Amino acid sequence: MMNSQTRVISFHYTLTNKAGEVIDTSRDQQEPFSYLEGKSQIIPGLEKVLALLNVGDTKKIEVAAADAYGMPDAQLVVEVSRDKLPSSNEITVGDQFQASGPQGEMLLFRVLELNGDQVKLDGNHPLAGEDLVFDVEVMKIRDATNEELAHGHAHHGDGHHH
Ligand SMILES: [Zn+2]
Repeated sequence: MMNSQTRVISFHYTLTNKAGEVIDTSRDQQEPFSYLEGKSQIIPGLEKVLALLNVGDTKKIEVAAADAYGMPDAQLVVEVSRDKLPSSNEITVGDQFQASGPQGEMLLFRVLELNGDQVKLDGNHPLAGEDLVFDVEVMKIRDATNEELAHGHAHHGDGHHH
């Protein structure tokens, strides 16, 4: 039977790159990661596979870069003069700034290099171009509440944090 109700899927994951280095894990959190199905809250290559799993299932999901955070875009690596940046504090490599990208969308830019008065920024996602491996375990699947649908995100069992 088809269920047209939007679901909340909660899962634990450990994310590694192709070299087997752990990039992120939910295992050190008190609760698994939860998302509203069909709202593009997780990367498409992961959502597609999770949609087919049941509670208790574990799976190793390999997601090619194109279905994860996409390929790096050279246009998003830009040099700007330091006085164009919002911060008046000292700028160091690795700092991040919100700024609008070429299509006007808000992006998070990381400082790659400092060259005198010039700052080289990268607006690509840090995992752009990376093939990823997710080891997942589905912990819980339930229907979304009306409140969650109205907010557009999943709520945790212990209530509301915003
Ligand atoms: Zn909410």
